[in-house]
Amino acid sequence: MEYRVLGRTGLRVSAVALGCEGFMHRTAGEVKDSFDFAASNGINFVDIYSSNPELRSNIGAALEGRREDFIIQGHLCTVWEDGQYLRTRDPEKTAASFAAQLKQLRTDHLDIGMIHYVDAEDDFHAVFDGEIIRFARRLKAEGKIRHIGLSSHNPVVARMAVETGLVDVLMFSINPCYDLQPAGDDVEALWAPESYAEAKHNIDPDRERLYELCERTGVGIDVMKVYGGGDLLSGENSPFGRPLTPVRCIEYALTRPGVAAVMVGCKDRAEIRAALDWCDASAAQRDYASVMAGMEKFTWKGHCMYCGHCAPCSAGIDIASVNKFYNLAAAKDEIPETVREHYRVLAHHASECVGCGNCETRCPFGVEIVSAMQRAAERFGY
Ligand code: SF4
Ligand code: SF4
Repeated sequence: MEYRVLGRTGLRVSAVALGCEGFMHRTAGEVKDSFDFAASNGINFVDIYSSNPELRSNIGAALEGRREDFIIQGHLCTVWEDGQYLRTRDPEKTAASFAAQLKQLRTDHLDIGMIHYVDAEDDFHAVFDGEIIRFARRLKAEGKIRHIGLSSHNPVVARMAVETGLVDVLMFSINPCYDLQPAGDDVEALWAPESYAEAKHNIDPDRERLYELCERTGVGIDVMKVYGGGDLLSGENSPFGRPLTPVRCIEYALTRPGVAAVMVGCKDRAEIRAALDWCDASAAQRDYASVMAGMEKFTWKGHCMYCGHCAPCSAGIDIASVNKFYNLAAAKDEIPETVREHYRVLAHHASECVGCGNCETRCPFGVEIVSAMQRAAERFGY
């Protein structure tokens, strides 16, 4: 298992992590079995968004005696009413559901208290100008949550939340299909076939800017909807008309800036196993670019997707990393200190490029790498 630091929280989380909604309607024994399997394979990070009391209690039982082995991301503003999960902004209901959550999970704190699902700008203002953010800050001050998080599908609203400086962790929907879509607060549009009827080119700039902002400011991203609700795994349902594997979807998300972990929704050992396959997968098995390259309708031409296909460089340069650090630096007048440091510790730098062009013949997205290395060398000074 690879462990990554979740931004400024400093938490070391497993890159492959568990979304727990799939454990709904499973018995306590089945949930415990899944937690045993996950733990024995190095998974230490779980997201529990559902307010279903039976599910939470089964997870609480599965955590018994090993609470400290897991970093728990629970959600604020989810309640259980009339036998179903609902999102709320009602302060009293939020507080009651939070107290019930701690009890059901058999713990006295959540490692991350995630403000649930803020997609619309007016909802953002209601949360951040109102009682919900005050409640989250109070819980943090009391040690009942260690860090404040926020989940969203809208890159513009997520960016507004990150810019408040109050959010340490962002849970965001990332996969190569959604990354093509413009910002919006209609989450259904991310799935809708009509959203993919027109040709689309390159990652949406709001999404790209969001990931880069998180990386620069130390807001750790954990990813939801990595398989696009399963559609990306099926050639029939995928907007691309070609299937990706679980390993390739996970690799795509984990190579976006700022991303520390992918919360894979699993219901049993077999689905956890499919996600864990990422850990031992070869470069070819992780290679999402081979699926995304050469499409007519959807293209990423001239845009570095950090796929690493261009390796090996004749001068030993890690081209994908140089491109990433350049993009992180390009948007700012001053190069952020962390980016400058990450660039510094690379074994080889852009100025070492000898212009052989070998990498460009291997790039499936037609990136002009020699020029990109020159730009990076000028920006960083070597
Ligand atoms: S330059 Fe091309 S091959 Fe290299 S990481 Fe970027 S997109 Fe991939
Ligand atoms: S052109 Fe530059 S970056 Fe590309 S392989 Fe040659 S030395 Fe490496």
